[in-house]
Amino acid sequence: MRSTGHPRWQGVSAMLLWLLHLFHPNQPERQQDDSRQLQRIRRFGRASWILVAWLCGLLGLFSAGQLPILLWIEVAALGLTGFLLFAFLLFSGLNQRAQDKTLTAPMAGCMLALMSWALYTTPATQILFSPFALLITMSCAFRLREKTLLLVALGALFSNLAAQFLHYLVWHDRATLIQGLMHCGALGITLPGFVMLATRVRRLYRSLYMVSVKMESIEEHARRDELTGSFNRRYMMAALQQQKHLADATDQSLCLAVIDLDHFKRINDEIGHLAGDEVLRTFARLAQQSVRREDVFGRYGGEEFLLLLPGIELQAAFSTVERIRAMTETRLGIIAKVERKVTVSIGLTQYIPGESVLDLFARADTAMYLAKTGGRNQVVMQEAVEERD
Ligand code: GH3
Ligand code: MG
Ligand code: MG
Repeated sequence: MRSTGHPRWQGVSAMLLWLLHLFHPNQPERQQDDSRQLQRIRRFGRASWILVAWLCGLLGLFSAGQLPILLWIEVAALGLTGFLLFAFLLFSGLNQRAQDKTLTAPMAGCMLALMSWALYTTPATQILFSPFALLITMSCAFRLREKTLLLVALGALFSNLAAQFLHYLVWHDRATLIQGLMHCGALGITLPGFVMLATRVRRLYRSLYMVSVKMESIEEHARRDELTGSFNRRYMMAALQQQKHLADATDQSLCLAVIDLDHFKRINDEIGHLAGDEVLRTFARLAQQSVRREDVFGRYGGEEFLLLLPGIELQAAFSTVERIRAMTETRLGIIAKVERKVTVSIGLTQYIPGESVLDLFARADTAMYLAKTGGRNQVVMQEAVEERD
């Protein structure tokens, strides 16, 4: 069960996959790797917006007369070079040799270095340093361990200090240094709190993820029959109701089969309950393999099963259930290692638009009893007779 996403993003994913394959010829066993790599590339794409936003911020400083355009061109060129370098590493798959395949820490380091370079050449960019340092720390929080995250935060702080002192050493501008140190102090005070908050958010995110995985597994359990692993009665009745609504809304046909193993009491008496359980399990597995993906098969209770066949008429549904009957007769006993023939009786009918689920079920059940009284090991079709005004 996986999400399909917006068609536009599916297109982007397909293009990224194609690019990935161009740099990184694919083998079937590498498909899972590819999807992880695709996720990394998407994350890189999202992270690149930080660079774009920072460059826009610098443009703002330029328009306010605080930054020479040449410096903007210089840092934009450096930023673009870094972007292309990381894009190359990701598309060529070279990143997979690194311990952290997402390359989060090196990307953060390069961005901080670029910001520090801008700060060294133009102290007016200090105003952008703190918010972007916090943004970078936050964006790293989901990928990096606590210690590495702390290192990134410390890196932000010390690169800021280093840029300012270098600037002072070259230009001896004391007033700018003092103002910059005050900014840096503010960053130093807020950064540890920010790292702590980011770490807590990351932990919350992880526990939420674990809970959602658990919920999925609980939901899956709740709709499965414990013995056979096929859908249980509750799920089958809900699916029947849902398929009825679908048939009403779309005018598509719907067939229902009630399947009952013959003389199962005798089978239990002869081979014991445990072996009887194995017969039920094997039958469910074989029957599931004999139906289409869109068919819904499940255990109604005891040795009775239901099969919903949406989108096909009675005759086509008959072929499917007849195949199940024949397969049971010829193979079930052998596969379940029971030294006797096991057979099923099947009642089959088609939904009459507008009728209730109970009426539909009752008709299929009656057909199944007719199959029993008719000698078992057979399929009985109960044609739908529509009432006309
Ligand atoms: P018929 O051909 O008329 O359907 O006869 P039958 O013996 O199959 O039907 P009946 O309803 O008399 O008996 C059903 C038997 O199915 C009785 C019960 O012991 C057995 N059964 C129901 N659930 C299970 C189960 O989970 N495991 C096993 N081993 N047997 C089960
Ligand atoms: Mg039976
Ligand atoms: Mg029965």
